[in-house]
Amino acid sequence: MAKGIAMLGWIDYVGLTRCRAVPPDQMAARREHGLGWAVAGQALTPFSEIAINPWGSIAEVRQVPDPSAHVTLPAYDGAAPFDLTLCDSLNSDGSSWDCCTRGFARKALTALESDFGLRFVGAFEHEFTLSGGTITPGAPFTVEALRVAPRFTADLADALSQAGLEPETVEPEYGYLQYEVTTAPAIGLAAADRAILTREVIREVARWHGLRATFSPKPSLDGVGNGAHLHFSFADGESRNMSFDASTPSQASPFVRSFIAGVMDHMPALVAYTAPSPVSYLRLGPHHWSCGFASFGIQNREAAIRICPSPARDPKRQASGFNLEYRPADATASAYMIIGALIQAGLSGVRRQLPLPPSCDVDPAELSEAQRRELGIVTLPASLAEALSALEADEIASSWMPATMRRSYVDVKRLEQKLAEAKVPEEVCRQHAAVY
Ligand code: GLU
Ligand code: MG
Repeated sequence: MAKGIAMLGWIDYVGLTRCRAVPPDQMAARREHGLGWAVAGQALTPFSEIAINPWGSIAEVRQVPDPSAHVTLPAYDGAAPFDLTLCDSLNSDGSSWDCCTRGFARKALTALESDFGLRFVGAFEHEFTLSGGTITPGAPFTVEALRVAPRFTADLADALSQAGLEPETVEPEYGYLQYEVTTAPAIGLAAADRAILTREVIREVARWHGLRATFSPKPSLDGVGNGAHLHFSFADGESRNMSFDASTPSQASPFVRSFIAGVMDHMPALVAYTAPSPVSYLRLGPHHWSCGFASFGIQNREAAIRICPSPARDPKRQASGFNLEYRPADATASAYMIIGALIQAGLSGVRRQLPLPPSCDVDPAELSEAQRRELGIVTLPASLAEALSALEADEIASSWMPATMRRSYVDVKRLEQKLAEAKVPEEVCRQHAAVY
């Protein structure tokens, strides 16, 4: 049996895990200085087209593996072992490259900790759609839907556990051959690392079975979308949930109330980070639980940001289980950019001590224009082009990225938009499903 190959991976602007690989026995030697990488690659769209960029043929960074962001899966029925470590992109002096998406999240997490003494606790929900093989789909949410791919789902649960990713659920979803995996929350950068590694493990286990898992937000135009909802809360140094306050009707602490307000305030620009591809906007919209409006609600699955109270009756568990959910996110975004931008948006509300917006208790699409205005609800951008314009119009949201990152990120995204505009939506869906 082949020993396999050890992969060093990093996540770019289009949310793909790019990699270089070395024989496993050379990994130790790569720990310190990593592998060189020509950064012009950061200007790639998900396809072969590359955006105009400031780097050219010389600029290079080191992709330095972080052993805390590592998974291995043993050899499986003829498939070689799987070994992936995520990297920080560093300049030759060891500082963080200003266009590294992992560095982008780290900066926001550091601000949260140093300015507010809080740690981010987060878990993504992973929706994906299977294709290939000869599975006949079952009805939504049924035992049949889960058991038509019994080896896949059982092997998946085992692989996620063995890899230390702490799976919590593996379940059939609403769509045709759509499934969902959730994992236990992780702290800080590990929340994003875990999401990226979980997705790659899901893809690998699908490959073992001759299947393909796509996380594209809209694999087919008339099918169900795949979200990457992010559940999160904030912990202090003693792991207490500082998001919770039993004394208010919303159960949200003063910090969280202003955090939600900041997210609402920046939402049209924020989606340029969290739903950042042309196909993202074929998913977002009312009546699909994927949200079409920048709205806040308690337990409302049509709201873009939702308070999720714990169902527990025990006060201690009520406090520890209380969390928030951000829904207009998908797997075409770097999980690091989602977490980093979400924190920055929220902190901008906390710094301004904004009050909690009124809660929307219905599908905001059912409200009149005037009722929405009263609740502070605006329509989310309807295309990547609109989201990028909202980003450029929001000085605060633009400032979360260093200047080179901002310019190069927008250039890549504008090119993606242009490529998509030349195609019919069905083709955009098909193309993205083949890559994500
Ligand atoms: N698939 C829906 C989405 O695109 C979410 C369904 C759910 O709430 O789990 O976001
Ligand atoms: Mg779901």
